Amino acid sequence: MKLVYSHDNHFIVGNIKNLIEAQGIKTFIKNEFTQGAMGETSAIDSWPEIWVFDDNDHQQALAIATQAQQDTQAADWVCDCCNESNDASFDFCWQCQHAKPS
Ligand SMILES: [Zn+2]
Repeated sequence: MKLVYSHDNHFIVGNIKNLIEAQGIKTFIKNEFTQGAMGETSAIDSWPEIWVFDDNDHQQALAIATQAQQDTQAADWVCDCCNESNDASFDFCWQCQHAKPS
């Protein structure tokens, strides 16, 4: 098992997990439910992490995560409602569920 990706925003982690699994790669998330424990542990320790079960899938999963990151950086959008920055792939604001402006 190998670590592929980690981010403090678990919506982004979930999105990248979906992209990797869409390629038929089995993954699991560590620290998925530790967000509420922040303050007790250091923030970086509680970031959700995507892991692959099979080390042979690691390179491909990494490439997918990297590509997704580049796509994200290319076209983030800012919510009209709460001014939160959102991943380009999100149709709704992760913060307030306001719809992406067209
Ligand atoms: Zn919003």
